[in-house]
Amino acid sequence: GEFRLIDFDRLSVLGRGNGGIVHKVSHRRTSALYALKIIHRGHPGADEEVDVVRRVDSPHIVRCHSVLPTASGDSALLLELMDGGSLDSLVRGGHGGFPEEALAEVAAQALSGLAYLRARRVVHRDIKPANLLVNSAGHVKIADFGIAEVVSRAGKYRAAYEGTAAYMSPERFDTERSLHGDGDEQDRVDPYAADVWGLGVTVLELLVGRYPLLPAGQKPSWAALMCAICFGELPTLLDSTASPELRGFVAACLQKDHRKRASVAELLVHPFVTGRDVAASRRALCQVIEQRSMPISTRV
Ligand code: ADP
Repeated sequence: GEFRLIDFDRLSVLGRGNGGIVHKVSHRRTSALYALKIIHRGHPGADEEVDVVRRVDSPHIVRCHSVLPTASGDSALLLELMDGGSLDSLVRGGHGGFPEEALAEVAAQALSGLAYLRARRVVHRDIKPANLLVNSAGHVKIADFGIAEVVSRAGKYRAAYEGTAAYMSPERFDTERSLHGDGDEQDRVDPYAADVWGLGVTVLELLVGRYPLLPAGQKPSWAALMCAICFGELPTLLDSTASPELRGFVAACLQKDHRKRASVAELLVHPFVTGRDVAASRRALCQVIEQRSMPISTRV
């Protein structure tokens, strides 16, 4: 290929996750900047992640330029650098929630990414603020395909107990049903609905400025999360300050019954998305990114 690992200088650590470490790197000859994500061989899902990133290419997905072998037999993904970091980092640190205008733009762009994945039969399964990355141009892109999966033609779908329970949809707690997904048509779980749920929790979290499905201060144990997600009321956090469009959008995403949950196609034409002033929305999002992210390029 055109890239070799030895042609890059490691500049700093951008993040760490389950899969491995992510470095900011510079291509020595061109000085171009990238993110380099090491995926350890043998890590559960390592092969799937490499398969999926090779399969996707969209302006709404963090682009993978190359998959490079490392000396130790691991894989290194050479990724487009997202210089604004993750949406998670933009709400942490006491910054508080996003203005609604900016949120509508986040939702619109994330939905474009999910629509692309839907068309490629890819379920991400880990949609959350930490996996939506932004750049200073105001783009929001889906990242981290560590537990993503390509849905087979038969519609069968591996029951997945992985991922962060905090963003897991109610039906994913129900292993029995997921395991027998090839049973009755009525009982069949729509795998894509889990990503819509994740988007709903994400939008709500970005609105209120903290994880929204548990009371502030409650420990996010697996049991507490399962209770809140499967049986809890939609948080009253959606108080009167939120517009009816935003409330409607979140409610449509957070339908506990996956058969009643809105699809990506439906959400793309939801008034919260279509009713936004696109130019103002983009400006609002750029402003949030500018104010809250210390540009990676200026970090030591
Ligand atoms: P994991 O699968 O291990 O969770 P991620 O792909 O989510 O790894 O990356 C972990 C963190 O590294 C992200 O939350 C983000 O802060 C940072 N990161 C990952 N990819 C990029 C990128 N392309 N540009 C900038 N930062 C990134």
